[in-house]
Amino acid sequence: MSNALPKYHPKFLGLNVEIGLFLQKFNGLRFFLSDTITFLKKLSIAKVYNALLVITSFYLTRWTKKPKVWGLPFSLSFEPTTACNLRCPECPSGLRSFTRPTGNLKADFFRSSIDQLHDRLMYLIFYFQGEPYINPSFLDMVQFAHEKKIYTITSTNGHFLSPENAEKTIRSGLDRLIISVDGTTQDTYEQYRIGGKLEQVLEGARTMVAMKKKLKSKTPT
Ligand code: SF4
Repeated sequence: MSNALPKYHPKFLGLNVEIGLFLQKFNGLRFFLSDTITFLKKLSIAKVYNALLVITSFYLTRWTKKPKVWGLPFSLSFEPTTACNLRCPECPSGLRSFTRPTGNLKADFFRSSIDQLHDRLMYLIFYFQGEPYINPSFLDMVQFAHEKKIYTITSTNGHFLSPENAEKTIRSGLDRLIISVDGTTQDTYEQYRIGGKLEQVLEGARTMVAMKKKLKSKTPT
């Protein structure tokens, strides 16, 4: 019988786990710092002053019980579309069961809203229910907001991250991209993401990472 250590001796397995956790925390910190710097770079004195007005009026209203409305919104959420290619069972888009009007966000309406608010707006969220990439004008709208120096974030089910879309996403200036992955095997993944293909999502994520490297871009984080 050999005295050689088994491949995963408990002592070394523990060390590997420690190193893995450390690297995970380190990467998390790197992501946080890079994202924060991106956000701070898009701030201006007018935006900070406006946010302070909004927060002050909120607390004054609470303390005095008298409504005070100061400043303009510093964060906005736009839903690029209500449509989705998947059928997640807890989502009105997945269930095709909206009780409100559906369709794509109109680029004209978006632009006029941003034109009115851009010098006070810090944070723009491009998702709610629906898959943003289904709206053909989605990335043009992101670029419009980026050019107005607004921090942008979106969330996707990851089925539309072709090389063309990955490149367009990076060039749009999108700051943060969330890719939803709910499972590590196709079986577990499709229990919620009904109609989804895990390998396609993972391939989309790899494409995005490779395109960021190719274009030497730090965003989207
Ligand atoms: S992928 Fe998102 S938008 Fe589409 S059905 Fe699922 S939860 Fe809803």
